[in-house]
Amino acid sequence: MTATPQAFVIGDPISHSLSPKLHNHWLQTHAINGNYQAVHIRPDELTSFVAELKNGSYMGGNITIPHKKSVMQMGMNAGKTATILQAANTLWFDGNEIHIDNTDAYGFTENMNDFAPQWKNQNKAIILGAGGAAVAILWAIVQAGYRKIVIINRTQIKAQQLCQRIASVVDPKNSTSFYPAGYDQLDQQMLDCDLLVNTTAMGMVGQAELKINLDPLPPTAIVSDIVYNPLQTTLLKKAAKRGLQTVDGLGMLIHQAVPGFERWFGIRPQVTDAARSILIKTMVQLDD
Ligand code: NAP
Repeated sequence: MTATPQAFVIGDPISHSLSPKLHNHWLQTHAINGNYQAVHIRPDELTSFVAELKNGSYMGGNITIPHKKSVMQMGMNAGKTATILQAANTLWFDGNEIHIDNTDAYGFTENMNDFAPQWKNQNKAIILGAGGAAVAILWAIVQAGYRKIVIINRTQIKAQQLCQRIASVVDPKNSTSFYPAGYDQLDQQMLDCDLLVNTTAMGMVGQAELKINLDPLPPTAIVSDIVYNPLQTTLLKKAAKRGLQTVDGLGMLIHQAVPGFERWFGIRPQVTDAARSILIKTMVQLDD
């Protein structure tokens, strides 16, 4: 290993990643003489990047789109969550062995615990979207003890496949049931919903808005959006206007980074207002 511990985030594209700001803030806070950098790796470069890791330039790193699934096929030691979700976002060494796991579900859970601690053990959740992020959110909501989870997606077959896949890996003692549905059923499904989570890219800067009516939700429902740029998406603004409790997506991004930092640099960093502020400032600069 090099004298200065280094970690990476790989993706394609990667220049807009907030992870370097976050990890370098934590390195500074803990006076660690280390470095965390974004590395642009295209899909055809992934195998050689991973092969090079054993030469010792890095302590480990994060893996983002489009490599989260591909790294599962590369013979590294995958943790339990990554194996269930079939995607990994964190890589580290144990001796000479490379390990990977997925911390997105953990990040979502911790963020919900921070901002809506009553969210666990409720009856019904609706997840909008069935893409890469939805799998982790679904897994987090299963672990949180919900009895019924409805997955609503534009492409309904993907919602069906996601329900089937997760139903096949949950503990048989777990009594959660899974229902795929289309947006035409959303109003009806909202009537007794305790938690609504947007995991689609809709509402993100540069993307179309999610045009849904939140009127059918009960007044006690929580609305969470994992999109974090903008921080207050139109969905969250609508929910707040109705007096519903809301949870934005930035805390998930920060919490999912904690286990990796601890593995690479040996200290568990704190999720603080200072870390949030730095990322909010960075998003404003990137959008300018
Ligand atoms: P993805 O795999 O590409 O999935 C995108 C999802 O959005 C799919 O369900 C897709 O539906 C849906 N969608 C896209 N355009 C749509 C439209 N016009 N109408 C209806 N549905 C539409 O993306 P992902 O990796 O899951 O990421 C989704 C979002 O989550 C991104 O904004 C990402 O930044 C955010 N995210 C946040 C965190 C965090 O830490 N806060 C972590 C991961 C991801 P179809 O299946 O029908 O195409």
